[in-house]
Amino acid sequence: MSCPHLRRLATLGEFRYIESCPCSGGIVHLSWDVATLHLCFKDFAWLAAVVEEAVGRGSPDLPLVLWVGSVALRMSHAEGIELRGMIRTALVELGQARLEPSQARPFVRLPN
Ligand SMILES: [Zn+2]
Repeated sequence: MSCPHLRRLATLGEFRYIESCPCSGGIVHLSWDVATLHLCFKDFAWLAAVVEEAVGRGSPDLPLVLWVGSVALRMSHAEGIELRGMIRTALVELGQARLEPSQARPFVRLPN
């Protein structure tokens, strides 16, 4: 699943980072531990909005669960803040003016 055109946008750690490549009109690769999500720019912008909202409303005592299609990413609130920061950095790198959330909304957030 590796692409020769990957460009690193943001890094949190060895297994948590965001890359992009120009394939198929542009794909964002978001790696979070064992999972790597492959999102078009619009879906990535939507995920960014969901993470902003989820982290902003989340309680520091409760874990955060982000559903992306059939995949769930479970993390602590502190990790959610780190993910938000990484996504913000990636958006700046991409030039977020070009990004708008997708009409189709594949992402659902559960409260726990
Ligand atoms: Zn590629």
